[in-house]
Amino acid sequence: MLCSVGSNLQISIAAGCRNSPRYADFCPALAGRKDVNTMNYLNKKTVEDIDVAGKKVLVRCDFNVPFDGEGNISDPKRIDEALKTIRYLVDHKAKVILCSHLGRPKGEFNMKYSLAPVAAYLSKALGFEVKMASDVVGESAQSIAASLQDGEVELIENVRFHKEEEKNDPEFAKKLASLAEIYVNDAFGTAHRAHASTAGVADYLPAVCGYLIQKEITVMGGALSDPKRPFVAILGGAKVSDKIGVITNLLDKVDTLIIGGGMAYTFMKALGYSTGTSICELDKVELAKDIMAQAKAKNVNFLIPEDTVVGKEYKPDTEFKTVDSDQIEDNWMGLDVGPKTREKFAKALEGAGTVVWNGSMGVSEWENFAAGTISVAKAVAESGAISIIGGGDSAAAVEKLGCADSMTHISTGGGASLEFLEGKVLPGIACLNDKD
Ligand code: AMP
Repeated sequence: MLCSVGSNLQISIAAGCRNSPRYADFCPALAGRKDVNTMNYLNKKTVEDIDVAGKKVLVRCDFNVPFDGEGNISDPKRIDEALKTIRYLVDHKAKVILCSHLGRPKGEFNMKYSLAPVAAYLSKALGFEVKMASDVVGESAQSIAASLQDGEVELIENVRFHKEEEKNDPEFAKKLASLAEIYVNDAFGTAHRAHASTAGVADYLPAVCGYLIQKEITVMGGALSDPKRPFVAILGGAKVSDKIGVITNLLDKVDTLIIGGGMAYTFMKALGYSTGTSICELDKVELAKDIMAQAKAKNVNFLIPEDTVVGKEYKPDTEFKTVDSDQIEDNWMGLDVGPKTREKFAKALEGAGTVVWNGSMGVSEWENFAAGTISVAKAVAESGAISIIGGGDSAAAVEKLGCADSMTHISTGGGASLEFLEGKVLPGIACLNDKD
């Protein structure tokens, strides 16, 4: 397999060295386990635990897809990912009512954010017409829902056309619930939000998860509750402050914690290094010291970059060079991890049992500063570990590098996966019915 960024910089992950187990290979061992988290997420009912035949089923999907300038869906991945649950419900003769948000219409009907293009895409993918309602809980949504035959599908309009959605207004949730007899949440990307369609509606209907959420909680829950060891976490991205919760939660669970990206410079500062003009959170230096002390006390192998690729300015084509991390001069900024660090991080990943990765190792959007992130992607792919990529930026990096197929699981929710890794309650999952 070829991982590439830009035209010149390429690494190759040979097809034969793809060692990461696939979700399907190891999930049976985790299925039915009840020891995850305080919320017992692995014990949540799924679509397979409830009789849906002849019933109206409201399914919360994440159809928040990007569009090109001409109103065409530019990346239908999120719709494709919802198809497994939709097809299961159709095949089992449910009357399916789909809902989602799209963009930020700010509580008003605004056809720029209409889900109609999604209905057209779904109709093609399913091979029959998905009936598009012109409202969310009004006359159109209700009359289509009432006339649905077994195996038919309706899509109601963007739930965020009503300001009550994001306020989790109980009356609005009740109206949404009144369209159906069963609620299925399959929108992991919004599971960390307590909105009417992601959580409130579960107060009024039997509530279960779809395949997408089931997969997220099985893989991430399994990794957190009983990881195959050694358990290595790699955290990067811009700031320590965005990831404090994750670092703290993972410190109790991992054998090795690798820190890269912009957040590494706050740790370097805490070690007394000069960090030049690198991104550095001075108000988090004490916290960084405390985290390193905790890591030592807990016997966690804590790795920060030994060497750094520094640039003159925050620009893709700026002059750059590699220096040891304690030798960053004034007027230079760290923009990627250096070659010694790449090797050290790759060594730490060799033989790992479980790897969780969230955040890039440098400004990976720019070719000159992408090597650290590419190197980590390659090392994770080759590690043979159960590999879990947090959504958002790191997921985008892996996709862009062409390494997605080499990972066990790429989360579909950036914010939600971070909150999951922090050990926080996700309202969209907590609200679902337990198996017992
Ligand atoms: P996050 O959303 O927190 O995962 O941050 C991702 C962003 O962090 C990406 O856009 C990267 O460009 C940025 N980033 C990573 N390393 C650095 C760095 N050394 N300096 C500035 N930004 C960085």
